[in-house]
Amino acid sequence: MRAVVIILTSFLVLFLAACNSSEQNKVQEEASPDLVEEQPNDKTGEEKQESNSEESPTETEEPIEDDSEEELGVDEEVTAQYRVSENWSLVPIEEGTNENVVLLTIDDAPDQYALEMAKILTELDADAIFFVNGHFIDTPEEKEVLKQIHEMGFEIGNHTYSHVNLKSIENNPEKQREEIVQLNDVIEEIIGERPKFFRAPHGVNTDTSKKIVEEENMVLMNWSYGYDYFTPYMDKEKLVTAMVTGEGPEVDVPYSLLKPGANLLMHDREWTKEALKEIVIGLREQGYEILDPRLIETSK
Ligand SMILES: [Zn+2]
Repeated sequence: MRAVVIILTSFLVLFLAACNSSEQNKVQEEASPDLVEEQPNDKTGEEKQESNSEESPTETEEPIEDDSEEELGVDEEVTAQYRVSENWSLVPIEEGTNENVVLLTIDDAPDQYALEMAKILTELDADAIFFVNGHFIDTPEEKEVLKQIHEMGFEIGNHTYSHVNLKSIENNPEKQREEIVQLNDVIEEIIGERPKFFRAPHGVNTDTSKKIVEEENMVLMNWSYGYDYFTPYMDKEKLVTAMVTGEGPEVDVPYSLLKPGANLLMHDREWTKEALKEIVIGLREQGYEILDPRLIETSK
């Protein structure tokens, strides 16, 4: 079954490589606004997670084998074991649950690299949430890519229709509703279910958008840390080091943001795709399990 999916997606990659060259500019445009706006969030994560610092796992701990993951079918319901905390990390609901987990998230998908990233993660048996934008799924080819990623078993989240800064349309509740609900409608049409998770572009939420997210039965989620949208880390080796250590000294984060339950932000970008395999391996080597998003408590 998985082999069939991989073969199919290989064809799709070839097909899309031919179609996507005109979209090159989109990537560059997307990268820059995040530079400024997403930075403050890292600081917030650090401040609020300071109390967890003594709980960091050491290399002596055995990596946790996640056998249960492989046995879960794509649409199978599972009991929630983690919830999203106030600082967006993932914490066990009950005592005795492994707290040394990290959540992988890929934003601004599916642009040019999401499908390849999904294939890399599948080979590593690592789960992730792909937060998608409506303007990346408005052609039949793009819809097909989203469908493939979902069928590979990945969670699909809502990242607004047009990657708008919700603050900029704060006085227009209808427009905010459109940005969020319309995307859920489109995603449901393609994959047969509505997203359970929402992440606002630049991590900027408004009172109205929070209400809409709740009405749509989605869980709001920013992130703990991410570095691929900062110029110094738009490089495979530097990004691997930053993500695996949690440190970003070149963007004023000389300390580690890697803590149990860390919610890791990455994007559909070339350097992130190149770094992805080593990021997953590096995190696992430190004793972290890559969390299956289906184990996160949702509204419904
Ligand atoms: Zn984004």
